[in-house]
Amino acid sequence: EQERRTEPYEIPEEMKSQVAVTTLDKIYNWGRSNSVWPMMFGLACCAIEMIATAASRYDFSRFGMEVMRPSPRQADVMIVSGTVTKKMIPTIVRLYNQMPEPKYVIAMGACACGGGPFKEGYTVVSGVDRFIPVDVYIVGCPPTPQSLLNGLITLQKKMEQESIATSRWYSKAPSQPIPIPV
Ligand code: SF4
Repeated sequence: EQERRTEPYEIPEEMKSQVAVTTLDKIYNWGRSNSVWPMMFGLACCAIEMIATAASRYDFSRFGMEVMRPSPRQADVMIVSGTVTKKMIPTIVRLYNQMPEPKYVIAMGACACGGGPFKEGYTVVSGVDRFIPVDVYIVGCPPTPQSLLNGLITLQKKMEQESIATSRWYSKAPSQPIPIPV
């Protein structure tokens, strides 16, 4: 009689160093989160710090963010870096609508998070999240490049927690464009 195996699924010794068990979500999110393309887009003084973060000293390409895209059609993340004026809001919403899913938004600086030193005035809105969804908030006036790097890493961690099975951009109906304020 053939000897009964007590561990029928045991990996042969010679293959143990060549086999890795994982999930589709982990592989998919690993690829996505290490290839996040920001939109080349800045609004005010915070944008200078964003540019510094992309330059050689801080070099956010080390985290897979090196390809800044001049078109929203090719971007994964919008970094709202600067004062959000009422006049600019229709353009910001239009650019957001033009980004393909999955898309993310980082509010960089006190102005983008809540109006900053200007608060709600006749020209400035108190936070871009009143018009588009924000995934990561970075405080500061302006935030340092290190803060932006920390925000980008926070976004990567958030992306790693997502699942293809439940994500709004894969298994559910795509989100509808946000009406452009006039
Ligand atoms: Fe300028 Fe400060 Fe506003 Fe950034 S948060 S755009 S540095 S005023």
